[in-house]
Amino acid sequence: MTATAHARPRSLSGIQATSDSLHLGNYIGALQQFVAQQETSDAWYFIANMHAITVPQDPAKLRERTLLTAAQFIAAGVDPERSVLFVQSQVDAHPKLGWIMECVASEGEARRMTQFKDKSAKNEQVSLGLLTYPALMAADILLYQADVVPVGEDQRQHLELTRNLAERFNKRFGHTFTVPEPGIVKETAKIYDLQDPTAKMSKSAQSPAGLVGILDEPKAIAKKFKSAVTDDGTEVAFDREAKPGVSNLLTIYSSLAGVDMATAVEHFEGKMYGHLKGELADLAVETLAPVRERTLELLADRAELTRILAAGAQRAAEVADPTVAAAYERVGFL
Ligand code: ATP
Ligand code: MG
Repeated sequence: MTATAHARPRSLSGIQATSDSLHLGNYIGALQQFVAQQETSDAWYFIANMHAITVPQDPAKLRERTLLTAAQFIAAGVDPERSVLFVQSQVDAHPKLGWIMECVASEGEARRMTQFKDKSAKNEQVSLGLLTYPALMAADILLYQADVVPVGEDQRQHLELTRNLAERFNKRFGHTFTVPEPGIVKETAKIYDLQDPTAKMSKSAQSPAGLVGILDEPKAIAKKFKSAVTDDGTEVAFDREAKPGVSNLLTIYSSLAGVDMATAVEHFEGKMYGHLKGELADLAVETLAPVRERTLELLADRAELTRILAAGAQRAAEVADPTVAAAYERVGFL
């Protein structure tokens, strides 16, 4: 099979199984988009457990977090009847095409990736996989001929590389892959740490007070918002440069309340920072508590979760295997 036009645009994305709980950045920047895309697209989502091991992981924890992450997808509204939901390592085509993409990409390209620079600076031992991560990510996407990839801002550079690799492969070996578009929602593509509003909220950041887990207890969520770092002055206004803390809180508010920024700012006109924090704390608890409860319910039936993922992997392989076969043929593998 080669690049095909789909009746509905195909949307595909993944999240790494790198922590027990996803965070509000994953929820707003990625998961909410995944859920919304189900309305208009042919949606494919996966748990990136192969990407997770680019930094050290405890095997038992990785296994548990893979199920936990899948449960959070479903609890947040990814419907395995409407979307194909699967685990990366359960579809063999990923590392197969990943290898080819490693050979299409150049070392210099991989070294220029800011995620590699950031994460290699943070880890003592830097795996080769951390460097080649974007080649596997390109494979993840190209295998399914995805039209659009909903991600946060931090993945823009990897997506640009994916597009380059698809074009390079197509040019060198004949048209094989759809060149995907990034699905990045400008307003919400980067949620910042509540204690350091210049740093991305991140699973791997060591900032428990600044990171809101979607599985955090309601009390803990409220506390984190109430002690969020704000800025000089008193006026609630959106200004990323002068008021990064307040701007981040306003972004989260507008996303969770489903209103645009102008409406959010107007809503808090004349109010103090404390009011914004309090109202946002309530809204976040109201939004996330049901996701937490549903996740815990889903985890009570692991056999069912495992079955859903196995069915997803089978559907994924039905599309991915022919793509990898075509790529093998094109590069000259017997
Ligand atoms: P890690 O620190 O392990 O890399 P992460 O928090 O960056 O974890 P990923 O699994 O790498 O999470 O990313 C999953 C998705 O969430 C990606 O689409 C990514 O762009 C998005 N994302 C991650 N952090 C944020 C954030 N702070 N704001 C918006 N989107 C985010
Ligand atoms: Mg990340």
